[in-house]
Amino acid sequence: MTKTFRAGFIAILGRPNVGKSTLLNRIIGKKISITSPKPQTTRHRLLGISTTEEYQMIFVDTPGVHLGSKRYINQVMNKTAANALMGVDVTLLMITSEGWKEEDRYALKLAQQDNTNLILLINKIDKLKNKNQLLPLIESSSLLHDFKAIIPLSASDGNNVQTLMDVLPEYLPESPLLFPEGQTTDKGARFIISETIREKLFRQLHNEIPYALAVEIQQLEMAESLIRVDAIVWVEKDSQKGIIIGKKGEKLRTVGTLAREELESYFERKVFLQLWVKVRENWSDDAVMLRSIGYIEEE
Ligand code: GDP
Ligand code: MG
Repeated sequence: MTKTFRAGFIAILGRPNVGKSTLLNRIIGKKISITSPKPQTTRHRLLGISTTEEYQMIFVDTPGVHLGSKRYINQVMNKTAANALMGVDVTLLMITSEGWKEEDRYALKLAQQDNTNLILLINKIDKLKNKNQLLPLIESSSLLHDFKAIIPLSASDGNNVQTLMDVLPEYLPESPLLFPEGQTTDKGARFIISETIREKLFRQLHNEIPYALAVEIQQLEMAESLIRVDAIVWVEKDSQKGIIIGKKGEKLRTVGTLAREELESYFERKVFLQLWVKVRENWSDDAVMLRSIGYIEEE
């Protein structure tokens, strides 16, 4: 007797920095979504696909929902997150073991609008000194909404992620494969490359960092043994350009090297990467620019 095959969409929602992308990468077993301690690391809706003999789970990673910023890019990201919830079979609302913050409640409100199966994930339990602190948090959470399940876990060390994977299939509808078996993401090389560069910039630039930076792939040649990339790093001010380039170009070189190494291992071939830094005032408020670098989804 063969079991019925199930397939469906699972959104991961939460404020910035709770660990959504880290969880997605752990489940897929491959780094498809960039992560960093900074908000705005994930700017796009991104699919991560996990396929077994019995099911296909299509996870939707979302930019964190945030309150309080009027910048156009933040509005676009909140809309991307809200859109990602439409039509999914399960929503995973993620908070951390620190407890409920204002933005967590806002994310819960968004999730409740769509009336899907809602599961609460309490991430970063590795940070708890005393695991007894979890019980009151689980209890108070269950008063906020009738969650299908409340699962404490650690996305970074993998603790209890399997519990989530065991619970999920129950909520997926009977369905044939929705994506080919071997596919792990909906994004192509261009996306992976620009996102990898952006992650290295975010990670190298500590606190001086202009959140207002974007990476645009100018030229991409993919050959069997070599990938050639020309990319522009857009910033908003001359002073930011200086910070990114660094003394004698050192910072930009480091970013380039780290990105190249990671891309070579991802694509399993040599990568030749050239980075340019350019200034464009207020790009993060500019709809034309946001569209051209792919932050606005085509309707
Ligand atoms: P996102 O904005 O929700 O996608 O969050 P990220 O996945 O980018 O992670 C934000 C930060 O939290 C990164 O520095 C991660 O390494 C860290 N992080 C994610 N999951 C865990 C976890 O389970 N435990 C700990 N200690 N840190 C985590
Ligand atoms: Mg993210």
